[in-house]
Amino acid sequence: MCGIVGYIGMQPAVPVLMAGLKSLEYRGYDSAGVSVCVSDEIYTVKAKGDLSHLEAKLKETALPEATLGIGHTRWATHGAPSDVNSHPHMGRKGIVALVHNGIIENYLELKAELMEKGCTFQSETDTEIVAQLFEYLYDGDMVGTLRKVLQRVHGAYALGIICKDHPDQLLAVRKDSPLLVGLGKEENFIASDIPALLSYTRDYYLLNDNEIVLLKRDGVSIFDLDGNPIEKEVFHVSWDASVAEKEGYDYFMMKEIMEQPRALQKTISPRILEGNINFEGIGLTEEMIASLRRIHIVACGSAWHAGIVGRYVLEKLTRIPVEVDIASEFRYRDPIFGENELCIVISQSGETADTLAALRLAKQAGVRILSIVNVVGSSIARESDDVIYTWAGPEIAVATTKGYTTQLSVLYMIALYFAKAKGLLRQEEEKMYLEELKLLPEKTSQVLHACNSGSIEALAKQLCKREDFFIIGRGIDYAAAMESSLKLKEISYIHSEAYAAGELKHGTISLIEEGTPVIAIATQSTLLEKLVSNIKEVKARGAYVIAITEEGNSFVADVADEVIYIPKATDLFTASYNVLPMQIFAYHVAVARGCNVDKPRNLAKSVTVE
Ligand code: GLU
Repeated sequence: MCGIVGYIGMQPAVPVLMAGLKSLEYRGYDSAGVSVCVSDEIYTVKAKGDLSHLEAKLKETALPEATLGIGHTRWATHGAPSDVNSHPHMGRKGIVALVHNGIIENYLELKAELMEKGCTFQSETDTEIVAQLFEYLYDGDMVGTLRKVLQRVHGAYALGIICKDHPDQLLAVRKDSPLLVGLGKEENFIASDIPALLSYTRDYYLLNDNEIVLLKRDGVSIFDLDGNPIEKEVFHVSWDASVAEKEGYDYFMMKEIMEQPRALQKTISPRILEGNINFEGIGLTEEMIASLRRIHIVACGSAWHAGIVGRYVLEKLTRIPVEVDIASEFRYRDPIFGENELCIVISQSGETADTLAALRLAKQAGVRILSIVNVVGSSIARESDDVIYTWAGPEIAVATTKGYTTQLSVLYMIALYFAKAKGLLRQEEEKMYLEELKLLPEKTSQVLHACNSGSIEALAKQLCKREDFFIIGRGIDYAAAMESSLKLKEISYIHSEAYAAGELKHGTISLIEEGTPVIAIATQSTLLEKLVSNIKEVKARGAYVIAITEEGNSFVADVADEVIYIPKATDLFTASYNVLPMQIFAYHVAVARGCNVDKPRNLAKSVTVE
């Protein structure tokens, strides 16, 4: 959710910290701050608002030059966004400063205990409790003190800590919140994500829960909770720094929309080998697949929408019953698990807190976990029995595009793989689906280029002042309508509602009046006639209808005011295409309304709180 950076080296720390925080802005935040340590003193500057506020304050305050420091962008959970609630937080004697991402669940209990011992608190945050506790338990040894602190705090945390007694040490730990260690020459880093490291190093360590990291200028040591040293494998960032930049696009979102063909290629092509789907390293055997009685798909947001498409495709091809749940609902509804079940967990970041918790719940019940994740080495990936990475590259815009469409392609592949393992796929059917899969990147590219030819932008400008949209569809088109509606809401702040087209007349049609825009997704060949009737129903009540349909369906175009064509595809895969014009439509509507497309208000990229 928020961004953490930490630096220890030979360069002035503040510019490194600020550059790192800038590259983590995409994660969403409401305030920011930095602390540096020099001549046995800690200096802190923090400010509510975006980084420009912090920059302005730093100009006024001119911190002494230091080569050790921590920085933070906060996405408030405990206490409103304000200067005082911003991180870093300090202990009452000013010995330590720390930044935190996550939530300390037992903070009230710890706060009461510390107050009894005479501590007073400046902020309303759960984080300050950790700073105070650290100082209270501090005995001169940073690692030893952190070990004691971790025995007391419950919850999710990534922590970066500096101490005025140790200007040669930066301390860090994580549990259920992301944190990486960047390895440089005579300098080392901590960061929530790779873009913050890329200007300095490509080598990094991934951390497991509760591994304590002690960074010095000339080396990094890692310890477990008992203080035993741990050896780590060095990972190397293989993608180029330019992928974390906009490459000439006005917004990351459009760059990522246009990257979809390439991302899909990366997801699909390594997995089709000699006419077969191949998931390397997957432990799920054919016997296990053949004996599956039920599949649970659990996810949040767009990943949940991908899961809904996945249910249609999986049930159709494998005949295994599939249940799709929103992770935050699933985990608290005491779900019923049985023998021979599989839980498919979907998350772009692999750090979505509710999805991770749902995964753990299913795992505890003995259910095997297969995850679909973009970020390699993320918590969800590591805790799953099997992982299929989407390999879409970093996604910076808060509203997902390539993250979602690559998830869809993985779900198609899983469905084909399972159907084959169950002996349900005729040879010619398999060939046809594999051909379609191979064509997905190229056809995606065609749709995107057609959509960018100007007509959708013009439509967006025409409709950008409307305050309500309805998006209707049947079957998989309904699932696609849900994702399309979310895109529009997220970035343009226009209210829109996705509706199963057949359900409209059970209430919602009363909201249709003269000129109400209705987007009708009409790509399911067996349901087209029914959908045309639904279009007529809303037209009769004055709706302005934009239909998204396949080339050749002129009878759909005849009943609509506007039509957007996508290429012909098998019904099962159309969700991959019909969402594309909607991504571009939502983008242009948001631009026309002057919205911050990449960082919509109130939203964060990776939702690491429940
Ligand atoms: N729970 C902490 C706070 O509200 C950290 C939030 C974050 O992850 O940014 O300050």
